[in-house]
Amino acid sequence: MGPASAHGRSWASAARTRTGERQLVRQVKTRMWGARGAQDSEENETMSLAQREGDSFEYLACHEGGHAAAFLSLGFSLTYVTIIGYEHEPRPHTKPSDGYSATRCQEALIGASGLIAGFWFNGQIMSDAAIVELLIGSRDDRFELVGMIWGQRTRFPRAPFVGQRNDLAPVSPGMGVLPLTADQAIRFWRQCEAFVASVSPAINVIAGEVLKHGRIDGDEAGRLARTAMIGRPAARIPPWAAEE
Ligand SMILES: [Zn+2]
Repeated sequence: MGPASAHGRSWASAARTRTGERQLVRQVKTRMWGARGAQDSEENETMSLAQREGDSFEYLACHEGGHAAAFLSLGFSLTYVTIIGYEHEPRPHTKPSDGYSATRCQEALIGASGLIAGFWFNGQIMSDAAIVELLIGSRDDRFELVGMIWGQRTRFPRAPFVGQRNDLAPVSPGMGVLPLTADQAIRFWRQCEAFVASVSPAINVIAGEVLKHGRIDGDEAGRLARTAMIGRPAARIPPWAAEE
């Protein structure tokens, strides 16, 4: 599928308003699935739009770019990266190639990388205390993100992050092999952050292309990442993610 910019506008400009975003999603789905398929997915579309209240397409592109760069750095190829849903899955996601199989630790790095890339795009940082709240738990079942620019503090529910089938499920208590203690949680998160920083050129270029087209092929994502990382230091893959 070619570029899906509507009326020659980029995703970024067309998605500024909620109405513009909704029209754009419908146009792209019509192109992918035909009018009937687009209508069938209308209900799901409404749900997916409601779910990401406050999440801009730019944020979603960086989040998926973080996942994509992690998959690729660990040596996994991708089928596609999308911020509008594809193949009966009406939400942003990054799909690895058929036969994909990763360790729990690798899944943890892939999951955390998407979150960190998205948080950083939003200008939100995690304190050590916030990392413990998110990964191990807190009294109100929320964790705190602090805005880098205004210093604004917001407490977000943990469930959409650590719940079953969500990005941090591989490190949820009772599920994961790591982290077990507060110190381990902090070390885990900071090592994931160092990894994300080391592959940020790849994340930026993938996010930029996904933002323009709604979805890009996995091969394209791989090519973009390789090109962006030429002349850069190697990705800082945490030792626990390199182990079997
Ligand atoms: Zn994610």
